[in-house]
Amino acid sequence: MENYRLRKRILVTGGAGFLGSHLCDKLVELGHDVLCADNFFTGTRDNIEHLLSSPRFELMRHDVTFPMYVEVDEIYNLACPASPVHYQFDPVQTTKTSVHGAINMLGLAKRVRAKVLQASTSEVYGDPAEHPQTESYWGNVNPIGQRSCYDEGKRCAETLFFDYWRQHKLRIKVARIFNTYGPRMHPNDGRVVSNFIVQALRGDPITIYGDGTQTRSFCYVSDLIDGLVRLMDSPDEVTGPVNIGNPGEFTMLALAEKIVAITGSKSPIVFKPLPSDDPKQRRPDITKARDVLGWEPTIEVDEGLRATVAYFDALLSRFAAAKST
Ligand code: NAD
Ligand code: UDP
Ligand code: UDP
Repeated sequence: MENYRLRKRILVTGGAGFLGSHLCDKLVELGHDVLCADNFFTGTRDNIEHLLSSPRFELMRHDVTFPMYVEVDEIYNLACPASPVHYQFDPVQTTKTSVHGAINMLGLAKRVRAKVLQASTSEVYGDPAEHPQTESYWGNVNPIGQRSCYDEGKRCAETLFFDYWRQHKLRIKVARIFNTYGPRMHPNDGRVVSNFIVQALRGDPITIYGDGTQTRSFCYVSDLIDGLVRLMDSPDEVTGPVNIGNPGEFTMLALAEKIVAITGSKSPIVFKPLPSDDPKQRRPDITKARDVLGWEPTIEVDEGLRATVAYFDALLSRFAAAKST
């Protein structure tokens, strides 16, 4: 970056995770100094290994439920396990991560007057009674179910962001992220795209939960990261919440069929019980992102799935090679 005044020092919490590592890549590429803070609960050093040699990148092992004293211009708060299998492993810690993590990042932002972005989620809409979901919809969330640690933790984090904005005049940005997929998803994290691809590549049965008629909308990771950076760079009056996701909606059955076609797999499709509180449908209304950020996704699902399949194919080959030596 030629103008040094545009070069910022940026904290990314959860920076060793799936989305966080792609965000770190993007911010380093844009010429910023990036401080990645992660407790490695679901993230890995492998995801950011290639950045460690960059003088613009710094890694800090840190749990966001504890205070953090650093000097930064911007904070992207992504720390939080995102897959149901991971966030239900230690639900109390999941809520603490969202709530205490938000308080600490907001306290830090307040002290150093940094701009702060929260990675919120479509889960704040719960099992939505309105379809597609606009940002004005308040949601339909069970406060005491298995998914509540994540959903309610993220809802409370949004509340904190808007209270710090009203009370302390902080510059905040809230992104409601919808299902995102791509390289560096964890192969065992139980999310549907990684599960189906790994099962198809191994020739294992593809596990559909329920009858497979539930829908989701999947956004490719590069589009999502572009949306987050645009939101952070938007004028101060744009606080969000803004939906960031791909409105292309399909059933889990259709997703399984797409992945079987792309991989040429002989895997059979099997049906398993539907987890409780599993939302029946989900699709973002992205009018606001289009109008305010000039953002919309550009990667078609078949293209994104092919790139993701190629990533998992290479990963599984590396696992197999390591096992045989
Ligand atoms: P991920 O699990 O790959 O990454 C989360 C990262 O946060 C990991 O590196 C993990 O080690 C770290 N982390 C967890 N608890 C922490 C703590 N207490 N202190 C410090 N670090 C901690 O998940 P992801 O898909 O990259 O999601 C990133 C963010 O985006 C999360 O906040 C998630 O809720 C949000 N989000 C993701 C999606 C999606 O589809 N991927 C959808 C909606 C929202
Ligand atoms: N905090 C932090 N880093 C900072 C400043 C604050 O981690 O640079 C944390 C600290 O734990 C504090 C919380 O953020 O309790 C909220 O800060 P705030 O100033 O809003 O409230 P305080 O609790 O200090 O009154
Ligand atoms: N799902 C599935 N098979 C799997 C994993 C998930 O059918 O092996 C379903 C799951 O029940 C849900 C959808 O796929 O209806 C998306 O699940 P994921 O865990 O990826 O995300 P979320 O439910 O948080 O949107």
